[in-house]
Amino acid sequence: MLFGILRENDQRVAITPELANKFISEGHQVCFEKGAGESAYFDDSTYTTIGAEEKSREEVLKSSNVLITISPLEENEVSQLQSGAFLFSSFQPFQDASICERYAKNNISAFSFDMIPRTTIAQSMDILSSMASISGYKAVLKATDYLPRYMPMLSTAAGTVPPSKVLIMGAGVAGLQAIATAKRLGAQVEAFDTRAAAKEEVQSLGAKFVEVEGATDDTNAGGYAVEQTEEYKKRQAELIAQKVEKADVVITTAQLRGRPAPTLITEDAVKTMKPGSVIVDLASSTGGNCAVTEDDKVVKKHGVTIIGNSNLAAEISEQASVLYSKNIQNYLKLMLTPEGLNFDFSDVIILQSCIVYKGEVVYGNEDKQKS
Ligand code: NAD
Repeated sequence: MLFGILRENDQRVAITPELANKFISEGHQVCFEKGAGESAYFDDSTYTTIGAEEKSREEVLKSSNVLITISPLEENEVSQLQSGAFLFSSFQPFQDASICERYAKNNISAFSFDMIPRTTIAQSMDILSSMASISGYKAVLKATDYLPRYMPMLSTAAGTVPPSKVLIMGAGVAGLQAIATAKRLGAQVEAFDTRAAAKEEVQSLGAKFVEVEGATDDTNAGGYAVEQTEEYKKRQAELIAQKVEKADVVITTAQLRGRPAPTLITEDAVKTMKPGSVIVDLASSTGGNCAVTEDDKVVKKHGVTIIGNSNLAAEISEQASVLYSKNIQNYLKLMLTPEGLNFDFSDVIILQSCIVYKGEVVYGNEDKQKS
């Protein structure tokens, strides 16, 4: 099989030279677009020395049997693929199922990493988790860049500096890493989440869990958060407003899969914050957790810096690429043989992640056996 690597509009690269080397050692071939790994510090020579071939973008698209990318291909590029090509990416069909139509042609098959179930057995392939963890870490560092204050408490000859107060909203993978990072920097950290299971995780990292009573039961939601009642949201909003007012840094990560992110910080709450405080909104691409967030922008409103960025993992480009590639490598173990790709649809990981099969949309038909 010929694996293609594209230079993407992202600082990461989906396939590192190490993974490309593994494909080649198993009898496959690899081609890459010039500069594919450059922003992740894997220059072209690191691919050519292991036997990968440099090609133009058009040639990579046209000749590859398998294309693994960070972001899905643009519509006009899909028509350039060869019949029967296999695409692997994060298509987010749960945000917009119509994206599947773009690939349902020419015998193409598409597999979406973000559809891999969040189970223990699939943990080593969980791209959502590895990237969220990096984002949570980077969110804290980003905040420190803009914050005109120290994070830790310091006793200096000129006087004592109090520790910064950091509030984390949403204690999933990104939130927990943000808590751990802020704690390491010596901040006072509080966090909350609607999922009851998050309390113990937050406390185990040494942060205080902010509890709002009466959350909706989420035991059947596959670990994801569920929509809350109006009564709960009102109580939550009051408590958040009190906490936000006192915080130096707020990091928000709250997501509702397939729906817009919940608004947790109103503009009025931003107005109560001390000038110079910072909000990092990791949910900005799905509408943001703060009412005045602008996606992919750093804005200053009411004296507060608000960073809207859902793609912070890309800024740790080398390590993010390495982890992304490792996740891919673990996932492909389920299907890659020296002869080619072989899909066992009785495996729930393959079944759930396949969204288009041989030119047909199969997203949402999980109980239908693909053949
Ligand atoms: P996510 O990105 O979907 O959401 C981030 C966090 O925001 C979640 O913890 C969610 O509960 C929280 N949230 C949503 N609405 C909120 C609100 N109104 N107020 C406060 N918080 C709110 O979540 P994620 O990080 O992708 O994790 C999703 C789930 O998957 C978690 O339960 C996580 O523990 C689980 N998980 C399991 C595995 C595994 O076992 N392999 C791997 C990764 C994640």
